[in-house]
Amino acid sequence: MAAPIPGNCKGCGISTTKKCSGCSEGVDMEGLTTSTHYCSTECQQADFAVHKGECRKANNRKQLYRGAQFLQSVFYAFREEAFDVSMTQIQVVGGKLHTREAATAFHHPAFYAFPNNLIATADDKKAVLTMLCCFEPAAAMHQLVKKAFAGICSNTIGIVEVDVLVKRAHHRIVRHTALGIDNKTYHHSLMQVTLNDRSEFVLDLAGAQYGHYRAAAPWDNYINTYCEGGKIYRMFGSGHESLQKVIAGTEDLGPKNDPRIVAMLGHVSKVMHETVNAWEQSNNTTLAATLKLKLPEYTAGTATLLEDIVQELRACMVWWKSTQGPTAAQAKAWSTDRVEQAYAAYS
Ligand SMILES: [Zn+2]
Ligand SMILES: [Zn+2]
Repeated sequence: MAAPIPGNCKGCGISTTKKCSGCSEGVDMEGLTTSTHYCSTECQQADFAVHKGECRKANNRKQLYRGAQFLQSVFYAFREEAFDVSMTQIQVVGGKLHTREAATAFHHPAFYAFPNNLIATADDKKAVLTMLCCFEPAAAMHQLVKKAFAGICSNTIGIVEVDVLVKRAHHRIVRHTALGIDNKTYHHSLMQVTLNDRSEFVLDLAGAQYGHYRAAAPWDNYINTYCEGGKIYRMFGSGHESLQKVIAGTEDLGPKNDPRIVAMLGHVSKVMHETVNAWEQSNNTTLAATLKLKLPEYTAGTATLLEDIVQELRACMVWWKSTQGPTAAQAKAWSTDRVEQAYAAYS
């Protein structure tokens, strides 16, 4: 282990390696580790009233950043297991990924093996994993988001679903479809998280398609750097609710959405929720409490939960293939009417 880095005692200013144990892994607004040094119990006690609040904030931000990181890992794992684009080619030109897809708008199997063979770097992989896919975190991961941020923000007003427009210069993907380059303007969905101390962050699980790879970041900087135009705000849970309505058949997302994929998303959402509940019960802890542990325990704990989730996602795909996957005849029906509807909607 590396030797502890000394700092100046917040009380008397002398150099010391001792620090407040309460926030030794706390982070600042940017998610960078920050710690407060005290040479002695005397110096620490004298500053307690002042430090107390900052100590709690640094720990809450630690939970926020770790939670966001964990949620993003779950999201990437979900996308890699259930990838719904039939990618045939990826060319890197001027820092942008030019992607080409198979000709049909609605693909026969609905899900495809993730095209690792076409991708050169880890960042490119993240960009492809998140392409055209930002509704999913709010729709399918609602319960996980709530659990990850439990205790550090209100789960009714502290989390808001927001649609933004990302400046064209930041787009990493240029999508070539059967109809040519897709120049349509899509909203990017993300969440705004306001901690109990009123500091605001973006939770951007699907941002890699826009070159934003961090799962969380300070809100104002993010909006100023990446976004333009108006924002659309919705209550936390709206995406999840509309997914449920689409599954129940009481709401239509429009012909561009393949209902087979929507059904799968609903199933994934339920499975993720059940898996985290089962993990919490069998480990007699909560996700939020695990995010607060010291680094080795937090790393080991979230790794086992991620493993459980990935296992369940794989089981989902097996379930899908055995019961919900379309027959050849159904697929043929899909590929005619739905494709025509989709083409009409695109033109
Ligand atoms: Zn001191
Ligand atoms: Zn502290």
